[in-house]
Amino acid sequence: MINSIDADVIVVGLGAMGSQTLWRLAERGVDVIGIEQFAPGHDHGASHGESRIIRSAYAEGASYVPLVKEAWQLWRDLEHASGRALLEQTGALMLGPADSPVIVGPLASARAWDLKYKVLDTEELRSAFPQYAPLDGLMGFYEEDAGYLRPEASVTAAVEVARARGAEVLQDTAVTEILPDPGRPRVRIGDRELTARHVVVAVGGWLRRLLPATAPLMTVERRVMGWFRPADPAAFGAQHFPVFVHSDASGDHNLYGFPSLDGETLKVGLHTWPGIYETIDPAAGHRPPDAADAQRFAEAVHRTFVGVDPQPVRMESCMYSLTPDRHFLVGPRRDLPGLTLLGGFSGHGFKFASVIGEIAAQFAVTGKTGLPVDKFDPHRFDS
Ligand SMILES: Cc1cc2nc3c(=O)[nH]c(=O)nc-3n(C[C@H](O)[C@H](O)[C@H](O)COP(=O)(O)OP(=O)(O)OC[C@H]3O[C@@H](n4cnc5c(N)ncnc54)[C@H](O)[C@@H]3O)c2cc1C
Repeated sequence: MINSIDADVIVVGLGAMGSQTLWRLAERGVDVIGIEQFAPGHDHGASHGESRIIRSAYAEGASYVPLVKEAWQLWRDLEHASGRALLEQTGALMLGPADSPVIVGPLASARAWDLKYKVLDTEELRSAFPQYAPLDGLMGFYEEDAGYLRPEASVTAAVEVARARGAEVLQDTAVTEILPDPGRPRVRIGDRELTARHVVVAVGGWLRRLLPATAPLMTVERRVMGWFRPADPAAFGAQHFPVFVHSDASGDHNLYGFPSLDGETLKVGLHTWPGIYETIDPAAGHRPPDAADAQRFAEAVHRTFVGVDPQPVRMESCMYSLTPDRHFLVGPRRDLPGLTLLGGFSGHGFKFASVIGEIAAQFAVTGKTGLPVDKFDPHRFDS
């Protein structure tokens, strides 16, 4: 039948953003199908590795603060709906010189939104956090309203709750083409075609391949996470060791990490660091961690901590999807009618996944959103 549709909304990609979109649509009773090329919670994309930082005094811009607040509440709603623990509040410690982006940015956001925080000078840092190696010239910015999310559990919880609310999920199913259309966009899965009133495209690093019109807006880079063994694991437990970001003045050496989740190791990632930048094609899969990754980690861990074996116990590869300005792509594009794009979530998007899912659900159902997303306009690079 020429007028038939398969669902009101199709969500392509059920990683961080797609799984939350599926949940927010199903929660409204929308007839929705989610399509994922692997199984939700997999480790081939950008949403694996046990932990993701959530912080409120946002270093990347004060305009993110209301979105973090909304996201935080939605994470708690998803915990309630799924019965799973997803967000642990540990506080966050930013360490850097007074003029570094990790101090200047959070201070500006905290002041703009009247958030609670504490500034620590070098001596206060040394006595409160002896886990860190020489802190000469560094100060600390501490906020309580921060912690970490469990990425794999967050994805699978959202998909499970969405299914329970009536969403259909096609997993291990790759969409091979998306055909934009103002009223009847379609997705192709091999020789099969599904039609909807609206399609949300949440394919992370695969976006530039699936919708070539977006290729100039996006690069995909490899990043590696490492796990390290401290001599005294209790000192790195969440009670004594909040999630952290540690940077030099230029921001060229920025590492971040988490308290020990397993009572034995702590996880560290290099956000910026000389030698780590490598463009990849997600379709080729993650390039596994190697000796050069271990070597960079050893240097970073040795100079940052006291009493931590700098040789990684294990490492995992992951990917950042980056726009030219490092801010997200959220919303429709005039040359891709019938679609909402979710992409470019970079190294800091996970914490927002719950609110991005809500925003995408609003776009899919009403064509607009009440949440502040001007900064993420997919047309902003057109000129
Ligand atoms: C090492 C690392 C550390 C990070 N740390 C933080 C942090 O501490 N805090 C934070 O907030 N953010 C962090 N981030 C960023 C955050 O994890 C990502 O921004 C976020 O996970 C991106 O989600 P996504 O849904 O866009 O992509 P993904 O989760 O990769 O989802 C895309 C999905 O689409 C599917 N897909 C692709 N193509 C198709 C197709 N053709 N058909 C069907 N399905 C398809 C993929 O299989 C995948 O499941 C980090 C990222 C990395 C890599």
